[in-house]
Amino acid sequence: MNIESDFLMTINGHGVTAPSRIDVVNPADGKTFALAPNCTKEQLDEAVLSARAAFPDWAARPIAERADMLKQAGEALRAHATELTQLFTREHGRPIEAARLEVLGAADWLGAASELRPPFHIVENSASQRVETRYVPLGVVCAIAPWNFPIVLAIWKIAPALLAGNTVVLKPSPFTPLCSLKLGELLREVFPPGVLNVVCGDDSLGPMMTAHPGIDKISFTGSTSTGRKVMESAASSLKRLTLELGGNDAAIVMPDVDLDAVVPQIFMGSFYNSAQVCIATKRLYVHEDIYDGVRDRLAAIARATKVGDGTEADTMLGPVQNKRQYERLLSLLRSVQESGAPILQGTEVPSNGGYFVRLTIVDNPPEESRVVQEEAFGPILPMMKFSDVDDVIDRVNRSEYGLAAAVWCKDIQRATAIAHRLETGTVWINQNLNLRPDTPFAGRKQSGFGVENGVDGLLEFMAPQSIYSALAT
Ligand code: NAD
Repeated sequence: MNIESDFLMTINGHGVTAPSRIDVVNPADGKTFALAPNCTKEQLDEAVLSARAAFPDWAARPIAERADMLKQAGEALRAHATELTQLFTREHGRPIEAARLEVLGAADWLGAASELRPPFHIVENSASQRVETRYVPLGVVCAIAPWNFPIVLAIWKIAPALLAGNTVVLKPSPFTPLCSLKLGELLREVFPPGVLNVVCGDDSLGPMMTAHPGIDKISFTGSTSTGRKVMESAASSLKRLTLELGGNDAAIVMPDVDLDAVVPQIFMGSFYNSAQVCIATKRLYVHEDIYDGVRDRLAAIARATKVGDGTEADTMLGPVQNKRQYERLLSLLRSVQESGAPILQGTEVPSNGGYFVRLTIVDNPPEESRVVQEEAFGPILPMMKFSDVDDVIDRVNRSEYGLAAAVWCKDIQRATAIAHRLETGTVWINQNLNLRPDTPFAGRKQSGFGVENGVDGLLEFMAPQSIYSALAT
């Protein structure tokens, strides 16, 4: 097979290769199909230096000018959507149409996020003094992204960081570097040199970035265990941090719902992107009166869902993205099988060396079992019975995580009362996975801290500066 190796990093506005490369594997067959640069320490230094050099001019431009460039960046993505989508499916595994949704969604997000503006407060404006607070950029932002939504989660960081007047060094996951490298290449035409740098490399690159003295702020999305390492590493130089970490999100299904309308939505909320979604439903609590109806409908949808190579037109869900995740899921599945909990499974999956996992619903496992307590981050969904609302809220809140949750209930007042008692940053009522550029998204507990999106998310990349002027001297 012809291995593609012409992907370049973007440093100071130039395309740059590296002395060594990392393998990029197609998860649909487990084979290396491309090589990506493995950034050296010196190249990272160069990227940070160029971001620092570009910062004063970028920060001094009017915000409307930066916003215009972000809109142009969105247009550049849209213009190359087909190419990016094909690359996305090869490196990520997600079926083509769903991959296209992420590319176009990221283009839309760039446009919408560019409309945000930081507040400006006049605290006092009297004869004797004027006190005002404005918000200023921080400097150089290090953006570290995971592999599950490689483009959109990078854009969640790049857009507000640049809009605020910072410059950026982006690092994608080594499992999905290619779309980010391509993004850097496309945006060389849009942003001045040094404003947006894209580097990539093996597991040693993230720690080099979080310890780098030239970086002012880290915006990190990934697992809770890595988030802890990032925080430790950032402590020595007191870097500002946003940590968007893991989740073990629950959904509560009340007995008054219309099962035929709701169960397909619950299925997608759990299994979309082969369940590799931080805000997917990963624990499904169903009232005992409707439990069997929900379980049987979910199992029927799983049996009708084709899991396969994302380039095939009728594939609905792709493989798991990488071998590490695949092996974790097989180990979790073995623990379920050893526990004797009943399982219901979807159709057979290809056995061609790709990282395919059969869709699995675990039927009422014990609350304390691994499959309920751990974040699966793959297509293994435990569903549990409940009879008492106080009890189910307690079980949902007992998790160490606090990212998002869903309540399915016709009675909106009752659903809202339940939502108010859930210890998560987001709650959906009779919907799922809905996020907006103008609305804050934040985790609680071990799901991290800080905010992405909305004006609160923009302010994560800014610092308040209060100016006191004595007027009557
Ligand atoms: P991960 O923590 O393994 O990796 C995330 C990123 O951190 C990658 O770019 C990786 O190369 C980098 N990294 C690894 N070690 C590092 C270190 N020591 N210092 C700095 N960077 C380092 O996570 P993942 O497997 O890529 O992503 C899956 C996890 O991300 C899941 O737990 C999921 O819930 C979480 N996630 C959270 C959100 C959210 O918004 N809260 C969104 C998506 C994914």
